[in-house]
Amino acid sequence: MIGEDLIFIGHVDLAGQFRGKSVPATEWNTRERDGVGWPPANAYLTAFGEIAPCPEGSRGDLLVVPDSGRVVRIDFEDGSAPEHFALGGLQNLDGTPWIGCARAFARAMLARLERDHGLHLAGAFEHEFVLTTHAATANGAFNLQTQRREAGFARALVRALRIAGVAPDTFIPEYAPAQFEITNGVATGIAIADDAAILREVTRATAARCGHHATFTPVMRPGGIGNGVHLHLSLRTRDGAPATHDPARPAGLSVIAERFFEGVRRALPALVALTAGSAISYERLQPGRWSAAFSNLATQDREAGLRVCPLRTRPDSDPARAFNVELRAADATASPHLVLGAIVAAGLDGLDRALASPGRFDGDCATAAPQTLARAGIERFPVDLPSALDRLAADPVLTAALPPYLLANYLAVKRHEWAGASALEPEARFARYALAY
Ligand code: GLU
Ligand code: MG
Repeated sequence: MIGEDLIFIGHVDLAGQFRGKSVPATEWNTRERDGVGWPPANAYLTAFGEIAPCPEGSRGDLLVVPDSGRVVRIDFEDGSAPEHFALGGLQNLDGTPWIGCARAFARAMLARLERDHGLHLAGAFEHEFVLTTHAATANGAFNLQTQRREAGFARALVRALRIAGVAPDTFIPEYAPAQFEITNGVATGIAIADDAAILREVTRATAARCGHHATFTPVMRPGGIGNGVHLHLSLRTRDGAPATHDPARPAGLSVIAERFFEGVRRALPALVALTAGSAISYERLQPGRWSAAFSNLATQDREAGLRVCPLRTRPDSDPARAFNVELRAADATASPHLVLGAIVAAGLDGLDRALASPGRFDGDCATAAPQTLARAGIERFPVDLPSALDRLAADPVLTAALPPYLLANYLAVKRHEWAGASALEPEARFARYALAY
């Protein structure tokens, strides 16, 4: 069959969907600069492709402009069309960033972290997903037999990620039936979120070439095991030196890391509206689910709101560089750029106000007395999307940091998504998300 190479110029929208348009690859020289046209109304698309009420209606023009550094072309050498896309952001026609662009927001927050505090952010998102077409067996968890049955997929995925410029790290036959996990190496700045966006698409693309369907939906069915997105973060100085660890201080956090993560910790009950923004995300954010349900900071607890990760204590390891803090209350329905920007905004609040941590709380938040939690400044997260969105809309730190247009856009999209999804029977609602992500 005849054909020519297309390149998809896209961005991750507020529903965490990779959307854009394709042009012939021969046009790249001009499209690299000019991008493709995009109406503001498209920023109001929900996870399910419906446009929420949008102030611009049919009016207005924007551009999706690619980042030349994030072009992915993978020939799977199986006779299928090569996977060819470029990740970018939304611009006005004059080339300035659009006020509703989540990637531009994240860049602005990272720039302020550098300007005001001389700090860079390092990190990586970990992703769990389900291959709905994998025939799960009993005792599949972490089992080499499970991996062996998907060896072709695992090999292709690792290779495809490497070609895409995202360093593969670990492939895991995960705990739940047909669930897998793929992690990638540490990046800095905006690349932390870009890598997550690219990894999701490369995973979907590889699964499709292997006759599979991969879904990153937060939960497959009511009461089911979650597909988490866990974000590992650490701070570095301008010259790249690790700045998160101080073995002499509580929880091993340096003074600036304590301030940064205390800002994040306090924002968590509002932040989850952005990190876990679907109508089913709150099925996962419950105690006993190995996700997170409370705004505590703890060491080595996989249900902590912020988990201070363990250090290898071998004499030949470099603890300061490896030391990081993990946020587990996220899922792949969120835009990684919005997640990154909002976390930095909350961390900046902690740095600006030199916030002190109430200390780590290693107890079980789910069974602790309310007064104990209140004394430790720990809150239960909102239990559904509408309450999370209300909490976000009332949060002084995040509402001050997010451009008002972007915040209003997000709330409109998510409230519309909730109205549609909550009208469905639970089974149908979960199935719809499994197809959408
Ligand atoms: N599946 C869990 C989640 O929803 C995480 C399990 C793990 O620790 O990897 O976040
Ligand atoms: Mg996992």
